[in-house]
Amino acid sequence: MNLILLGPPGAGKGTQAKRLEERHGIAQISTGDMLRAEVKSGSEIGRQAKAIMEQGGLVPDAIITAMLANRVSQPDCARGFILDGFPRTTPQAEALDVMLKEKGLQLDQVIELKVDDAALVERIAGRFTCAQCGAGYHDSFKPTTRPGICDACGSTEFVRRADDKAETVAARLEAYHRQTAPLLPYYDAQGKLRQVDGMASMDEVARQIEAVLGR
Ligand code: ADP
Ligand code: ADP
Ligand code: ZN
Repeated sequence: MNLILLGPPGAGKGTQAKRLEERHGIAQISTGDMLRAEVKSGSEIGRQAKAIMEQGGLVPDAIITAMLANRVSQPDCARGFILDGFPRTTPQAEALDVMLKEKGLQLDQVIELKVDDAALVERIAGRFTCAQCGAGYHDSFKPTTRPGICDACGSTEFVRRADDKAETVAARLEAYHRQTAPLLPYYDAQGKLRQVDGMASMDEVARQIEAVLGR
């Protein structure tokens, strides 16, 4: 099963991708996570991406598509994958179509998480993750059970993304509406687009996604 989770920054793509990964044994592919790892390691890709990410813009298509082509060939993708944060532009979607065709793979469904911009700002402002295991949390919507201690691994170290500050969020939302939203009609025309109410609770969103997949 090969899926795309499509939606604006903070919509819950990462949260739901992790659940799908656990439930269906398919790999989460987050281009944002991959880019942050490149930046951290100081690689050539990381050097090219860093300033763009800090400003909330999109990293050039050529860099992203090369990175992705590599990733889907890895063994953990054998049972399928969930694309989280890719594609983000029409050229990326077209490159994905070509790439899948070459590999003899099919895209099953594109699931749009619909969330209002005002809610996104609140979600992004409260987002943090465990520095040790990467588990995702939110100050109000998903706090750790014991204050300051990761539920998943017990670590007491957490990180917040540099681009999750208010100034950058506006640029990221702008990039979504201008460059990524045109993919909705693109996939609708392929008959692959399904919509889910991303404003609902995490559990309810997960239920709606499972209902879509069950069809
Ligand atoms: P969010 O989950 O909040 O939407 P991501 O972690 O997916 O954010 O992406 C963080 C940043 O990484 C983006 O703002 C952008 O600069 C870069 N990025 C991630 N994926 C892509 C992509 N497919 N194309 C271009 N840039 C990307
Ligand atoms: P994305 O990957 O689309 O940028 P995330 O999955 O990182 O989004 O979610 C953004 C923030 O909102 C996180 O702190 C997460 O815990 C929280 N969140 C995710 N889904 C929901 C939801 N349905 N209701 C409330 N908060 C949510
Ligand atoms: Zn942890």
